[in-house]
Amino acid sequence: MALPESASLADMLRRHITEHGPIGVDDYMGMCLGGAGSNFGTTGYYHSRDPFGATGDFTTAPEISGLFGEMCGLYLSHMYEVANAPDTGSVIELGPGRGTLMRDMRGVWERLMPGLAAAALHLVETSPSLRRAQDAMLGAKTVAGWHDDVESALAASDGPLFGIANEFFDALPAAQLVFVDGAWHRRMVGLRDGHLGFVTGAVADDIDPDLPEAPADGMVAELCLQASHIVSLLGRALARRGGAMLIVDYGRQGNPGDSLQAVANHHPVDLFAAPGDSDISHWVDFAALGRAAQNAGARLVGPAPQGRFLMRIGLAARAEQAARHAAPEERRTLLAAIDRLTSPAQMGEVFKVALLLPPGAGLPPGFESDEA
Ligand code: SAH
Repeated sequence: MALPESASLADMLRRHITEHGPIGVDDYMGMCLGGAGSNFGTTGYYHSRDPFGATGDFTTAPEISGLFGEMCGLYLSHMYEVANAPDTGSVIELGPGRGTLMRDMRGVWERLMPGLAAAALHLVETSPSLRRAQDAMLGAKTVAGWHDDVESALAASDGPLFGIANEFFDALPAAQLVFVDGAWHRRMVGLRDGHLGFVTGAVADDIDPDLPEAPADGMVAELCLQASHIVSLLGRALARRGGAMLIVDYGRQGNPGDSLQAVANHHPVDLFAAPGDSDISHWVDFAALGRAAQNAGARLVGPAPQGRFLMRIGLAARAEQAARHAAPEERRTLLAAIDRLTSPAQMGEVFKVALLLPPGAGLPPGFESDEA
């Protein structure tokens, strides 16, 4: 497709749809974000910007407080220890953003778990500008390699695998289906009066996801095949090599329905208003990830609500310790951050934590009685 360099993503999408017809909702999301395999990779949302924090579009847990990364680092230290402290192992992070989470986890490992601090660090990141930010945050010598996808990160690493993905899966393209006239159809993005909008595509009889039973007319279901694929790759690797991988994201245990949301400057915006200039995400279906793990010979423990998980693994005690040495203003900031991460009204309930493990029995810390 030959278009002037200056054409906006909205123009490119309109032109593409006029020439080739409507595109899947997953393709729309992929093109807007510019993830791997997207035709418009260099114009997508993540490619050109730092989306995080007060001056960006949204704030993630590691950007709220360093205690989030510390707790995750401590957690993986525990998993590393019970895995019998292997001499060689690899650390992997999917979608590391600014690199803040890995910096904070490594801070813990440098003090307490030198084996993890010394393990080869592999980062899966498609955005050139965020790769630069991660490089600056972590130091190039710390990172063994950046990878476009999980396949290459797994191929480049060896030994037991310890890792984390925070708000990564929600950014993967999700497809939608809509139930009309007694059948599931693909939901597409097309043109209506020249404007981008949803249109109904062909009957979707070639996919067999775990769809809601007895759907009402107009019901929407979502599936993220890339998320399941990535969990099966990681699950197979963990079953063979050992290790543990934390998955943190907002979502639910089951099909989320129509969960796509676009956000700019910390406010929801119309999904079609600013393609490429707003973040688009979807709710992660942890039940689908659990099935993918099981089919791969691994197991997904949880999900547990983030607030409960963090409290169970000792966040309150750690915060108290930190607050003891803090000035009053710092103390207030710290307590507000803890509340934001854990209270059900904020991130504590909607965000979930799951742990991908080799097959086995018993519940690791933080997941007691949350087993699905
Ligand atoms: N984990 C970070 C950032 C979350 S935002 C934090 O908690 O702050 C999502 C991250 O995933 C970004 O780094 C983004 O560039 C990356 N990303 C999005 N889609 C991706 C894809 N398909 N492949 C690899 N990385 C991707």
